Order: sequence, then structure tokens, then C-alpha cells
Amino acid sequence: MVLIYSFKLDLTLFYRDDGFLVGDADSLRGCWTDLTELGREIGYYPQAAKTKVYPVSRIIDQAGLFSDLSYCQALEAMVLGAPIGSQEFMTSVFNKSVDSFTKSLDRISELNDPHVEFSLVRFKRLSLPGTGYWITCIPNPKMGLYLGANEFIIAARLRLGLKNFANDLTCMACSKAMDTLGHHGYECAHEGNRTIRHNAIRDLLWTIAEGGGLSATKEKVGLIQGTNARPADIFIPNFYDGRDVALDVAVVSPFTLSSIGLMDQNKDFLIEYKINVKMANFNKQKPVHDFKFLPIICDSLGVWEEEALSLIKRLAKAYSTRNNMAYPKCLLYSLQKLSVTLTRHNTRAILQRIPKSDTLNLSPLSGMWTYY
Ligand SMILES: [Zn+2]
Repeated sequence: MVLIYSFKLDLTLFYRDDGFLVGDADSLRGCWTDLTELGREIGYYPQAAKTKVYPVSRIIDQAGLFSDLSYCQALEAMVLGAPIGSQEFMTSVFNKSVDSFTKSLDRISELNDPHVEFSLVRFKRLSLPGTGYWITCIPNPKMGLYLGANEFIIAARLRLGLKNFANDLTCMACSKAMDTLGHHGYECAHEGNRTIRHNAIRDLLWTIAEGGGLSATKEKVGLIQGTNARPADIFIPNFYDGRDVALDVAVVSPFTLSSIGLMDQNKDFLIEYKINVKMANFNKQKPVHDFKFLPIICDSLGVWEEEALSLIKRLAKAYSTRNNMAYPKCLLYSLQKLSVTLTRHNTRAILQRIPKSDTLNLSPLSGMWTYY
């Protein structure tokens, strides 16, 4: 924030990493430059692709001060989630919000028993390979294969379908209902837990790639024409049959209504997310040169999409070759560490959402069975 306040702006609004700045063009330009160049020193990466300029005069267009950003001529904007602009604009935003909420309610009413449906999802996903590495690995803090007592107990209860809380709570981060199992912690978009979890998985994959001598780069810029968009969480040159590859990491919850809806239609929600969200967004952009764009997607229980698992195997192979280690051992260690990392961040998100007045019952045999 010191960066921002060194410029004379008319209005500065920030909510976590979302900002809304009003001021003259030169001040805004200086502010944007500092945020993008110095922000990364404190882990703040503003994205040009998600940033818009609303000029109140056409002089800015002529000066080209914000040629790296997109302009919006209509003075209609979302300010920290609230629509500001014409009556029509505000009405359309609110209507979309109501429609979305109504669809969710309709979907819930179609379920015979929402609790049973959620249980079935958990059973189905946990029966797939990849979800139990955090249990079967030998605990070793020095290798990162370790969960704290609270983390392990919460994760074990989630896996077994045991309640983590005796009663429904209010999420400390978003004020929504926190179910007794704790599933809400997987999905809650507040407090940056999902970003922290994403970054932890990205960093781990990058570490394996780096250990394999693959010259991997995190958050590489300059891949897309005319913007500072960074489609690659990890960029690895000359890795897929001579092609560079841009890896885009995502963790998707199986417990959202959209994921459950896709599973009801016998569709793989990880593949649907890869095609309809990740690939669709990337295909709108113009790369500066040829490279393979590869979404690396898993669900929050640790099931990897097929192509993502294949990538992990390639990274483990490179690591084993460079370090003269057995490939099966490298692959197993990679999968175990990814599983432990994912589980750690899931459980920390749940722990962070418990009101201070409530304490977690950490007795492993508290008798809080749910459906049995
Ligand atoms: Zn929440």
C-alpha cells in the first residue's frame, strides 16, 4: 500500500488483492508500473488481462499510456464486486446474480437428499487412484511428507465422512454456512486460501522440474501478444516432442453443484473444466510463438486429470535421470508430496474458518459419526 499512497490519487479502494484506483493518467500509469514491477517483491502479481482502464477523456487514448491494458469506453464497472454505472447495467448484474442463485436452489431441490449426494461424490472420488498418498507415505518432515496433528485429524475425518464440527458454523472468511464436515473450506474463495493452495502445487511442480534440469520458469511474461498475461504458471522449453510447454495449474472442487451436475451426466468435471474454461480462455489469446498450452488439473481430493498425471510422470522421469535415482521412487515421492501439500492446504483452510469461540474437538474418537 505504501506504493499506492506515494501517488496522488482521487480514490484508492482495495479489498485484499482487488483494487480500484481513480486519478489523473500520469499518476495511474506510475501506480500501475510500480504495482507490476515492485509488487512481485511482496508476492503481488496484478494481471494486465484482468485489469481495465476507464478513461473519462479521450486524451489517454492518444497518449497510449495504457497500451498494455484494455480500455472500457462505457463508464460501467464492478467496484469490489458492486456494479457502478447506468441503471440498466446495475439491473443486469443483479439479475445475473439472482439467476445464478435461483439455478443453485433449483438444482438442490432436484436432489433427493443433498447430504447423501455429497457422500456419494466423496465415495466415488475417493475410490479413484491418487487420493490416499498422504496416508500411505512414511511421515518425514524433512522431505515435506508430514501433516500436523490437527491437519491429519481433520483430513482423516473428511475422508471417513466424520463430522469435524458438532454443529453448522458460520465461515469466518465469507459468513456463509460452514457444513459440519468442513467441505466449505475446499471451496471458499475468501482469504486467498485457494490461491495459496494453487501456488503451493505450482511451486512443487516447478521444484521437481528444476530438479530435473528442465530450465523451468514460473509466471513467465511475454508469451501473449499485446498483453502482460501469463498463461504459464510454469513454462518449460523444449519439453513436449521439441515444443515448449506452458503449464496452467488448477484445483477444482468436486463438491460444487456444477461438478456434481456434470458427474450426474457421467461427465468428467476435470476434463470439462480443462476444455470449457482453461482451453477456451487460452484459445482467445494470441501467443507470440508456438508452444503447447497444458492445463494441469486435479480435484481437491487429489485425483489428477489424465494428461496432468502424464505430465507429473514426465517430470519425475526427468528428475530420476538427472539425479540417477530410480524412476518409480521419484514418481511415488512426487505424488506423495503433491498429496500431502494439497491435504495440508485443504485442512488449513478449514482451520482458518473456525470462529475463535469454537474449538475443534480433536479427540480422534469423539463419536461424531454422521450417516452410519
Ligand atoms: Zn467461506
